[in-house]
Amino acid sequence: MQEKSVAIDGPAGAGKSTLARALARELGYLYVDTGAIYRTVALRAWEAGADPSDPEQIAPLLKGLDLRMDYGADGVQRMYLSGRDVTEAIRVHQISGLASQVAALPPVRDFLLDFQRRQAMEHDVVMDGRDIGTVVLPHAGAKVFLTAAPEARARRRLLELKQRGQEAELETVLRDIVQRDEQDRNRAVAPLRQAEDAVLLDTTELGLEESLKALISLVKGRLAQ
Ligand code: C5P
Repeated sequence: MQEKSVAIDGPAGAGKSTLARALARELGYLYVDTGAIYRTVALRAWEAGADPSDPEQIAPLLKGLDLRMDYGADGVQRMYLSGRDVTEAIRVHQISGLASQVAALPPVRDFLLDFQRRQAMEHDVVMDGRDIGTVVLPHAGAKVFLTAAPEARARRRLLELKQRGQEAELETVLRDIVQRDEQDRNRAVAPLRQAEDAVLLDTTELGLEESLKALISLVKGRLAQ
């Protein structure tokens, strides 16, 4: 039911997935990372050699798309493309930019809208993304717009990449983040923006524990209303 669900939106590297996952655990909800779904479509486009910005090349790929999502015993969301587990493959740096490109295409957004809403019909969810509070779950019981200064987000993203064993330079990560935000904010369909009834949480000066505490108290307060 949408009224019980939690929508968390915000730009890249704001800590959405870490915080949303922890919040879901606290509430006993299912955590749905919608970015992973867009990333899976981007991987499909990449493997097909299709231009991620050309709807005429991408739309036909959607027709035969075999996309599945499930949760392992560890509670981690896993993504499958044609039966293949692509959970790790979609985290590669290049896929981030490609995901942002395919995500700007109306046929892709239309295709994924039902897929995302179905999750919220079947479970109580904490869902994170860019347009959850504005488009996917407009009746969510609690909406949060999570953000932080670009430099702070780039540092966090760099750390995350390093932990996955991927090398990158801070400057490159910052440039990619700024470019991706621009693209996500300025697209015609479902751009990244704060819903009118969302609460803004800026984590630039907050550590993980403090951010989580703030988020939990904010969301519990909203859901209790
Ligand atoms: O959150 P993540 O960085 O994994 O998302 C990858 C890309 O997918 C984003 O840059 C954005 O373009 C797109 N996305 C979106 N709408 C969502 C979630 C992700 O457009 N709800």
